[in-house]
Amino acid sequence: MTTSPQASRQDVLQAFDALLQPERFKDYGPNGLQVEGKAELRKIVSGVTASLALIEAAVAAQADAIFVHHGLFWRGQDGRVTGWMKQRLALLLAHDINLYAYHLPLDAHPELGNNAQLGRQLGLRAERYFGENNLGFLGHRSDAAEGFDNAEQLAEHIQHALNRPVVLVGRAQSAIKNIAWCSGGAQGYFEAAIAAGTDAFITGEISEPQAHYAREMGVAFIACGHHASERYGAPAVAAHVAAQFGLAHEFIDIDNPA
Ligand SMILES: [Zn+2]
Repeated sequence: MTTSPQASRQDVLQAFDALLQPERFKDYGPNGLQVEGKAELRKIVSGVTASLALIEAAVAAQADAIFVHHGLFWRGQDGRVTGWMKQRLALLLAHDINLYAYHLPLDAHPELGNNAQLGRQLGLRAERYFGENNLGFLGHRSDAAEGFDNAEQLAEHIQHALNRPVVLVGRAQSAIKNIAWCSGGAQGYFEAAIAAGTDAFITGEISEPQAHYAREMGVAFIACGHHASERYGAPAVAAHVAAQFGLAHEFIDIDNPA
């Protein structure tokens, strides 16, 4: 019987840290190892959010570690282990599964992060960065085309690439050349994107004020789903680190319409 390669919890943590450099970010929660599990790993499951469904799927997949974008702990929580928190923690601890979570550092990584991978998925090439932590990406189509004839054409392109409906507000007619994007709940980056000179801004979510900014500033706002826009960074990073150690890796997508 051959034994599959294994790596220590700590070596894997150091590899994630070396790649994502969490010390460079002021984040909304702790990055790195959020829940300690077994000391030796053979298999990593990646996903977007450390939900109960993902943890259950990771147990079924015999994972030793889970790597996610949205971990369990956020600033502003009251710290009680009740309700959903109790259920998720109990399942992780019962199966001795490590939970690694990286939030902004995972968005930001220039090749493997959520923004870079979303751009790849949408056929966009970043040329400049804007906003806090340079999390906003701004560029053009990466194919030969100049841009999109109008915002509706861009919205259709995104719908097709991400396989989900999008919300489009503003700039109905004119051509789209400069395109900015930031994965997840980055509607707060819209004004910085406008200031950076974009014709359209793509993110996961829209809130009430951005609809007005879009109409008033003549810049298209396209909300393509928080989850849908953040499905690509975690598997890219987890696969990269798993390959460094020869570990097994599997991405498990728990569908989320939000
Ligand atoms: Zn997010």
